[in-house]
Amino acid sequence: MSEQNFDLVVLGAGSGGYAAALRASQLGLTVGLIEKGKVGGTCLHVGCIPTKALLHAAEIADGARDAAKYGVNATLNGIDIAGVTTYRQGIVSSKYKGLQGLIKARGITTIEGEGRLTSPTTVQVGDQTITGKNVVLATGSYSRSLPGLEIGGRVITSEQALELDFVPKTVAVLGGGVIGVEFSSVWKSWGSDVTIIEALPHLVPNEDEAISKQFERAFRKRGIKFSLGVRFQSVVQNDQGVVVTLENGDTIEAELLLVAVGRGPSTANLGFEEVGVTVDRGFVITNERLETSIPGLYAVGDIVPGLQLAHRGFQHGIFVAEEIAGLKPVIIEDVNIPKVTYSDPEVASVGLSEAKAADKYGADSISSYDYNLAGNGKSHIIGTAGSIKIVRVNDGPVVGVHMIGARVGELIGEAQLAVNWEAYPEDVAPLIHAHPTQNEALGEAFLALAGKPLHAM
Ligand SMILES: Cc1cc2nc3c(=O)[nH]c(=O)nc-3n(C[C@H](O)[C@H](O)[C@H](O)COP(=O)(O)OP(=O)(O)OC[C@H]3O[C@@H](n4cnc5c(N)ncnc54)[C@H](O)[C@@H]3O)c2cc1C
Repeated sequence: MSEQNFDLVVLGAGSGGYAAALRASQLGLTVGLIEKGKVGGTCLHVGCIPTKALLHAAEIADGARDAAKYGVNATLNGIDIAGVTTYRQGIVSSKYKGLQGLIKARGITTIEGEGRLTSPTTVQVGDQTITGKNVVLATGSYSRSLPGLEIGGRVITSEQALELDFVPKTVAVLGGGVIGVEFSSVWKSWGSDVTIIEALPHLVPNEDEAISKQFERAFRKRGIKFSLGVRFQSVVQNDQGVVVTLENGDTIEAELLLVAVGRGPSTANLGFEEVGVTVDRGFVITNERLETSIPGLYAVGDIVPGLQLAHRGFQHGIFVAEEIAGLKPVIIEDVNIPKVTYSDPEVASVGLSEAKAADKYGADSISSYDYNLAGNGKSHIIGTAGSIKIVRVNDGPVVGVHMIGARVGELIGEAQLAVNWEAYPEDVAPLIHAHPTQNEALGEAFLALAGKPLHAM
């Protein structure tokens, strides 16, 4: 039996937990960071980073396949999946080493093992009792399935999809949200025949409807098949593959079924409810300052209802550390957190969709401008179609930006500044964008909303 005492104890070292630990140590608090797996959590090891490595390898494959369009002699001879794996693992392990070094350099004590909350200020890890003046719960999430849909064999989740040592010839993907469309995009670029099954009426259903429709056109053009608005019913598998049946009786045959129906909170059997933490369907309920039902006990990241994104976790972690240190940080609203889907094409958005802005402010009190990337020199050069839509309140600020096209994820920084700073198009329109960049498309849309379009009508 051993006992350790800290100012702050953080349970889980993913994006939310390690950010809380780093910021708290910067503010002079002593920190114990408990992790049962690897620091960095889902995002670094099985989420954001490795999937973006796959997407980059997919982009290179498309570049080779389309090289002749640009006058370059190249042929795509296939995908060396072992080579992709070496590249992917190299990126992850280098980032992992960097993060371990940073945590150590900040003087944070890492405690390896599975923790269980035993009181509002105590976490038990094996025979070690770890006590904090404050505790932050940051245990993250896991790949969910549907009732009766068992994962195993040819029915896989994103964790197994990352580790595949072959490119499937045919694949069915259950779920047309971010994770589903990113894997679909990768596999299609590598030559697979892909079919997505989405119960809602659109792919990327959380985006502005106009963007979802453009996205569907782009995926259709790439030859990615999808079924919308019909629910999954069942799957059977044998040595050769899977047969998926939908509620309307349609069937889809494939080598594999990827289940990408969302992520559930990892909060079961960790002592949370026994200690008195309010939990709803597994999610930890907090107030807007991320404090749970128990004063002084906080929760961050994917276990808190809302967007499940790494940068939300980072910001939650920073917020909670500052809150505990008495700095009274500004509340983070989910609506103004940027979202990027890194498929081909990319989708990036922040703030309210046009429909939600109309609900909030009234249809007559908002306007929007849709700039077609066909008019943007750099987009034309790199061969992408797409658009940038900005929604504003009339005589008021920009409240939403919605983009689709290759590389538009890189434009979200400026978009989120405009939304979060409540900029008026008239204020940002005179600020200069370099030519030729895709950023100019944002500039053109601001100019148009300020009543002085340059390269548009
Ligand atoms: C395939 C995929 C792609 C993604 N791509 C993106 C992306 O591009 N951009 C983006 O913003 N987000 C992306 N995400 C989401 C992102 O990974 C999560 O939002 C983020 O990791 C959440 O951080 P977290 O700290 O809440 O949880 P996690 O990262 O899940 O970390 C929780 C940690 O707690 C540990 N833990 C759990 N229970 C215990 C316990 N009892 N004791 C000790 N340790 C424990 C776990 O081992 C884990 O390390 C992706 C996710 C997936 C699955």
